[in-house]
Amino acid sequence: MVGERPGADDEGLRKRIAELTAEAAQNAAILKRTQERELMLLRADSLSQLLRELVDGLRESFGLDAVHLILLDPQHEIRHLLVAGGDRPEEFGRVSFVDTLVGLAPQLTSLQKPWLGPYVGADHHLLFAGGGDYRSVALLPLPRKDRALGVLCFGSADPSRFTRHHGTDFLAHLGAVAGVCIENAVNRARLLRAGITDFLTGWHNRRYLQQRLKEELARAQRRSGSIACLMIDIDRFKGINDAYGHLAGDNALREIAHRVEAQIRSMDTAARFGGDELAILLPEASAAEAAKLGERIRAAIAAEPFVLTSQITRGLTVSVGVAALCPRHEDHDLPALANRLLADADAALYRAKALGRDRVQVGIG
Ligand code: GH3
Ligand code: MG
Repeated sequence: MVGERPGADDEGLRKRIAELTAEAAQNAAILKRTQERELMLLRADSLSQLLRELVDGLRESFGLDAVHLILLDPQHEIRHLLVAGGDRPEEFGRVSFVDTLVGLAPQLTSLQKPWLGPYVGADHHLLFAGGGDYRSVALLPLPRKDRALGVLCFGSADPSRFTRHHGTDFLAHLGAVAGVCIENAVNRARLLRAGITDFLTGWHNRRYLQQRLKEELARAQRRSGSIACLMIDIDRFKGINDAYGHLAGDNALREIAHRVEAQIRSMDTAARFGGDELAILLPEASAAEAAKLGERIRAAIAAEPFVLTSQITRGLTVSVGVAALCPRHEDHDLPALANRLLADADAALYRAKALGRDRVQVGIG
């Protein structure tokens, strides 16, 4: 029997199968790229790295012309966390920090799932700071629990890249993953900051100072320079708490930190060392220079009474211990040097207390 020649139907079927196979392969490739990119987002170990992965990483992975990220940051907290981590928010050109999404684009007011469609300059130019020649866009909400964290905006010069006919499931998934990653990174940055910050004064804490001291000692050693330290302790502070209450004491501590801050240089590091004890590190300062600063601080505190509560105003004084050292090149044990500097300043402070308080003493160290 002679075999039948394939008919037009078979040809069509074969073509369709080939098309579907190619489409499946393409979808598999997109899925793989998306999963890889989502892993990169999950692995980002800092807020700044995450923001870069979101705008640069996604643009590269998906061959887009632009990715912009709009972050809701009404309290400016995300920006502060970036600054605290040593980054400058304005350096993230494709990340905008906004108080509200209202007025940025008509689609954003009720964006529950990704919106795909043509780029309309009048509607979308605020989403893509810096402009660009886009023909289609995808706007991905970044949901987190009951609120939105912001929007991820994809721009393409290809008008058919994002249309209303495309599925949005995988973009919705990407937006959800990005939202979780942003929230985690913000929480991690908060914890990191809390670990080195004193809540009452907003100053750094002892842990930070000790870390910083080691760095500054190494720098002083490289430059054959000196480094000084002031230890400041409020005189008879316990009596303030006992007489007027803990909150009045807290107000005094905050105001003292304020007055000290007004006296120090931007290169100095101020920290709450513990209880009513504050420490200042002065890179490139001698004991005599540090003592002068100590005297200015002492005078600024003694000069004006403190408003402790709406009814109570009281004068306060502090005692100050000063120490300085010049690390030698052969000093290898920097932690031991750090401890010595702090101990010398503390011993000088103790002498200032013993000599009658409200005075500055320089250590002999
Ligand atoms: P001296 O002149 O010898 O330093 O006397 P002092 O009473 O200040 O003694 P000391 O420095 O040993 O006492 C510190 C007091 O500071 C004891 C503690 O109750 C109080 N204190 C520590 N931390 C805080 C705080 O965060 N808030 C308030 N209100 N008080 C604090
Ligand atoms: Mg005290």
